[in-house]
Amino acid sequence: MDARTRQCCALTDCPWCSRGDLLCHYCAGSGLWRPEMPVQDGDGMISWKRVEEECRMCTGTGKEHLHVAAG
Ligand SMILES: [Zn+2]
Ligand SMILES: [Zn+2]
Repeated sequence: MDARTRQCCALTDCPWCSRGDLLCHYCAGSGLWRPEMPVQDGDGMISWKRVEEECRMCTGTGKEHLHVAAG
């Protein structure tokens, strides 16, 4: 597990954080995702810049957090 990942998300006693057998499929367990953000330069040209953010789906834990409504 990457040292940059969190141990747990904001939830107390999160059932997803308590299990370590599932990796977040958005960030592949890295806790990071790398979207491309539009950047406008002085001439009004839009270019795309790859940024690195904490994965929002697992809040940086790298653990799968599927919020599936039962039924
Ligand atoms: Zn969690
Ligand atoms: Zn993730």
